[in-house]
Amino acid sequence: MTSDQRNTNTAGGDEPETGITEGGTDGAFRDVLSRDHARRGKPPVHFADMTPEERIAAAKELGLPKFRVSQLANHYYGHFDVNAEEFTDFPAAKREAAARMFFPELIHEVTRQVADEGTTIKTLWRLFDGSLIESVLMRYPTRTTLCISSQVGCGMGCPFCATGKLGLTRNMSAGEIVEQVRIAAKMMRDGEVAGGPGRLSNVVFMGMGEPMGNYRSVLSAVRQISAAPPEGFGISARNITVSTVGVVPGIKKLAAEGIPVRLAVSLHAPSDQLRDELVPMNRRFDTTAVLDAAHDYFLASKRRVSIEYALMRGINDQAEHARLLAKRLNHYGDNWAHVNPIPLNPIEGSKWTASKPEDEQRFLDILHAAGITATLRDTRGQDIDGACGQLAARGKDLVAKDLAPQKDVAA
Ligand code: SF4
Repeated sequence: MTSDQRNTNTAGGDEPETGITEGGTDGAFRDVLSRDHARRGKPPVHFADMTPEERIAAAKELGLPKFRVSQLANHYYGHFDVNAEEFTDFPAAKREAAARMFFPELIHEVTRQVADEGTTIKTLWRLFDGSLIESVLMRYPTRTTLCISSQVGCGMGCPFCATGKLGLTRNMSAGEIVEQVRIAAKMMRDGEVAGGPGRLSNVVFMGMGEPMGNYRSVLSAVRQISAAPPEGFGISARNITVSTVGVVPGIKKLAAEGIPVRLAVSLHAPSDQLRDELVPMNRRFDTTAVLDAAHDYFLASKRRVSIEYALMRGINDQAEHARLLAKRLNHYGDNWAHVNPIPLNPIEGSKWTASKPEDEQRFLDILHAAGITATLRDTRGQDIDGACGQLAARGKDLVAKDLAPQKDVAA
């Protein structure tokens, strides 16, 4: 069985998913699974899960000719619309059936937190099985970025991370991933975000989950986000970022796709000794393997790689760490990576906490002096539950009443 088969959760895949990341069955690292891992069944099949052939076959089942599929694609990708019952260009007698067949509700808004004067909106979504995931929409003067989730929970087990504490419940389907984007694009168009009507311009896979652990659905989503309407939302692939904790085979596969998405690698530590502790996946793919793959990605894509580095007080934020990081990046030559130190947004009751501002500044200064491009990442939403996974972890309480009849709530 290939890893693609193991990880697939798309329509038609009949292999049970295990969530095990490629190579994880015999290496030193395995995904951390939640108690109810993969006991949820598969999400309903949605238009965004279907191949063009599957869409045509489904339309035929409803007695609809092929061109009706193009109309649906136009509504979905071009107008962000799933309300088939109001598609006036569609035969009235078929609208309800088309809505049921193609657009089952995959993500349902549970709660929304608004910050930064209405320009940051974090949404908690409930999936068909009661699982909870989140996405964050952030409007800046020149762009609007949506951060999306690709798995329910995460199996990478980073000890400082709220999502890591949940473990991996299951992979999300392509439809569940794409729906986060469609709804955000619609919110922007309809002026639901402070600043008036606008356009969703950027998408980052930096919410819950390890995108490379759900490669097939993530790649399908990337294609649907970037294709021009009516095949996709028309957000340039150059404005899409796929992040990874360092799943090397995933980085290699993505490089071979030839899609110019930006790669972001969550490094968090410059040495194997420290990274083994902060990012358990490092025991399978160490810093040399990860940086080699990241640099190869740069060569293949001609896109600078983002190196994400969560600054934790007294752990990885000292001068020696900055110097070693600079040395390791410069080993590959100039200007191939952009470091984003991010002050850690600490989770309650955790020993991992944010760096002191003076240590952040020194870290940046050392990188700059060594010729490394580095920008302190702005931490939008600090006054809401900004760290990844916090909202979903707390969401259990928020929706406990709402979900009372369903026992099967996210772990
Ligand atoms: S930091 Fe990222 S990879 Fe690590 S557990 Fe959290 S979501 Fe997963």
